[in-house]
Parts: sequence; C-alpha cells; structure tokens
Amino acid sequence: MLPTSTQHAIHPALNSIHLRIAQACQSSGRNTDEVTLLAVSKTKPLSDVLEAYAYGQRHFGENYLQDALEKIEQCPVEDIQWHFIGTIQSNKTKAIASSFNWVHTLDRIKIARRLNDQRPSHLPPLKVLIQVNISNETNKSGVVLGQLNELAEQISKLPKLTLCGLMCIPAAQQSEVSQRRAFTQMAEARDQLQSTYPALKELSMGMSSDLASAIACGSTIVRIGTDIFGARTALT
Ligand SMILES: *Cc1c(COP(=O)(O)O)cnc(C)c1O
Repeated sequence: MLPTSTQHAIHPALNSIHLRIAQACQSSGRNTDEVTLLAVSKTKPLSDVLEAYAYGQRHFGENYLQDALEKIEQCPVEDIQWHFIGTIQSNKTKAIASSFNWVHTLDRIKIARRLNDQRPSHLPPLKVLIQVNISNETNKSGVVLGQLNELAEQISKLPKLTLCGLMCIPAAQQSEVSQRRAFTQMAEARDQLQSTYPALKELSMGMSSDLASAIACGSTIVRIGTDIFGARTALT
C-alpha cells in the first residue's frame, strides 16, 4: 500500500516556485527555459510525485535509495527524469546505475567507475554532475576546486557516463555576498571545463533560500523540496 498523499497544495506551490524562477531570470537577463526545476520528492509518496507530474513537473530528485526505488518501480509514467542527489555508498551504485537518469553527487573516481560498469547496456549513458565542496567545509561531500580538473578528466573517459555539469550545496547561513562568491566560482569552474567537455553545461545550485542568487550566477538546475511538497516527516 502506498501512503496517501499529504494534504499540501502542490499545484499553487509549483506555480509560486515557477514565478520566483521567472522573476529571478528576468532580474538577471536570462530566459526562464534556461533553468530546470528539480522537485525534491525525498520521503514523499508517489501520489505526490504524480500530482506534481499532472501539473507538468518532469524532473524529480531523491536522496534515500530504498524510498526512491519503491517509487520508481511503481511509477506508472515513463517520462519522468529521476535525479539521485544523496550520498552515494559503494554498495548502492548498482541500483542507482539501473534506476536513475541523473546523479548530482559524484565526487570520487571509484564510485564513477562502479556506476559506469553497472550502467545497464540497454540504457543511455547516465548523466552525472560532479559535486564540488565550494565552501571548503571539512567532512563535507564534494571535491575541492583544486581536484576538480583531474576528476573531470577521469570521468570523461568512462563511456557509460556523460559528464553534464557541476553541483554544490554551499555552507549554510552565509551572507549573500559569500553565497554569490561561491556560486560565481562554480560558474567559472563550469565555463573553464566546458571548453574541454562541451556537454558539461549544467550547474545544479540553488535551493529555496538562495534560489535568486544562484540563478543570477548562472544556475541551470534549482533543487526545491519543502516549498513544493511541504515539510518532511523523518524516514523511520
Ligand atoms: C533535500 C535537498 C534539497 C531540497 O531541500 P528543501 O529544503 O526541502 O527545499 C535540495 N538539494 C539537496 C541535495 C537535498 O538533499
């Protein structure tokens, strides 16, 4: 039995996020279609995903593999793009490689090789983003900028992965100035790599609180959960 949908009003929430994206694009002279909304549906039931789908949402982000796999397996529609945005453990790579279209949180060559080897041959290459530890936080996921080129070069050689861009989660509670500095460094790193790897054009950055800054600095994918689906209850 699937859990029943929470009573959160998904349609107006999606509309208001689209409006915020459009306003941020307009203020920074960008086209709205340059920014993809990734609806983060972690811990939320499939019925919520399908409700957002009914209003045109096609990209969904998940962190918890078991929770995600149940939804993906039971999902009755084919044209959803599933993005894995959680921490990747080695023993989870096979399921991620088989069930997802995108991975945002790649930061180690060992994991990249496993995803490459385990990507089923009937599927197109898995789209991957390298997670960058842009605020240089200790014990945080992501490569530091100094190691980015080497990892990108190694990943680019793997035929079942397509290196599509970079992702970051800047340190919480920064000033807007330091947020923008981090986002700008991400955009510069992306521009520099894109000259070598043309497919590397995405920047997954910006969440509810920093969406406008991220878009001003060049974000192409914003990741929003709570503001679409309502507050999460912890997974037990
Ligand atoms: C949960 C999550 C989000 C969405 O966070 P909300 O606060 O629910 O909008 C975005 N990105 C990542 C990597 C996440 O884990």
